[in-house]
Amino acid sequence: MGKASRDKRDIYYRKAKEEGWRARSAFKLLQIDEEFNIFEGVKHVVDLCAAPGSWSQVLSRKLYLPAKLSPDSKDNDLPLIVAIDLQPMAPIEGVIQVQGDITNARTAEVVIRHFDGCKADLVVCDGAPDVTGLHDMDEFVQSQLILAGLTIVTHILKRGGKFIAKIFRGKDTSLLYCQLKLFFTEVTFAKPKSSRNSSIEAFAVCENYSPPEGFNEKDLHHLLEKVGSPSGADDLDCSSGWLEGPNKVYIPFLACGDLSGYDSDRSYPLPKVAEGTYQSLDPVQPPIAPPYKRALELKKASSHGIRDFERLSLDS
Ligand code: SAM
Repeated sequence: MGKASRDKRDIYYRKAKEEGWRARSAFKLLQIDEEFNIFEGVKHVVDLCAAPGSWSQVLSRKLYLPAKLSPDSKDNDLPLIVAIDLQPMAPIEGVIQVQGDITNARTAEVVIRHFDGCKADLVVCDGAPDVTGLHDMDEFVQSQLILAGLTIVTHILKRGGKFIAKIFRGKDTSLLYCQLKLFFTEVTFAKPKSSRNSSIEAFAVCENYSPPEGFNEKDLHHLLEKVGSPSGADDLDCSSGWLEGPNKVYIPFLACGDLSGYDSDRSYPLPKVAEGTYQSLDPVQPPIAPPYKRALELKKASSHGIRDFERLSLDS
C-alpha cells in the first residue's frame, strides 16, 4: 500500500504525521485522557514499553513542557517522566530513557531507582508482544506484560495513583478485571476511537491505587524473577511455603488466575476404569426429532438389507 493510500484510509496515521507524533497510538492516550482526565495533578510518570515514543511525546507535551515554560517553574520541581522499552528510542525533551525488558526484575529495579524517594502518580503501559495470531498465546504474553507492569506499579505508584495498560480482550478478560480490582477501586476497560474495531486491543484504566491490606510487593517482584528464570517455571509452586500472610492468596491468584472448578479444555481420567466397572451413561434426554434422524434410519436400514433401504428411500 502506498503512503498516500494509507493517508486516505487511516485518518489517525495522517493526523499523527501532521501533528508531529511518532505513532498514531498518541491519539489513544489523548482520547483516554479526554474521557478519564488521567493527567490531572500528575507530576511523576512511568511509560512502559514506550518506543517509538508517541506516548512519551504526549507526556512531555502535556506535563513537562507546560511546566518548563511556566514563568514560575523551578528546575527541581519539573515533572519526572521515565520511559522504558526493549528498543532504543530517539530522545524526547523531559523524558529519561531506560532500555530493557520490563518482564526482567532487574529492569524493574532500575526504574524503581529513578524514583528514589518519590512515588509515581501515573504508570502507563502500551506494551505489545510480537503478535502470533494465536489468540490464547497472544493474550498470555500480553498478561505477562501486565503482570510486569503491575510489579512496577506496586513498587512506585502512590496510593490513589493511576495505571493504564493495554490489554487483549479474550476469554480471560473478566479474570484480569478481578485481578486489577484487587489493587484499584476503579477499573474500566476502554476502547478509544483511534483503536481499530478490528483489533482485540483495549485499555484497562485503573484508578485509585489501594493495594490490599498486608500485601507485600516484594513477593510480586520475586514471582517475576521466577517467571523470567530458566528453572523458574518448575519453582512456581505457590504452595511451597515462600509466601506468607495475605500474599498466600493474592500471589497465586495473580500468577495463575482462578484454578477452582474444572478446565473445559482438559481431559480427566475416568473413575473405576482400572476395575473395569466404568459405565458410560446415556444422555438424560436424547433429541426427539434431530435433523440427522432420517440419515440414521437410512443407515440402519442399509445394514439390514437392501430391500428395507429401498423402501425407506422411496418413502422419503
Ligand atoms: N506506546 C508506544 C508509542 O506510543 O510509541 C508504542 C508501543 S508499541 C505498540 C509496543 C512496544 O512494546 C514495542 O516498542 C516493544 O518493543 C515493547 N515491548 C514489548 N515487550 C516488551 C518488554 N518485555 N519490555 C519492554 N518493552 C517491550
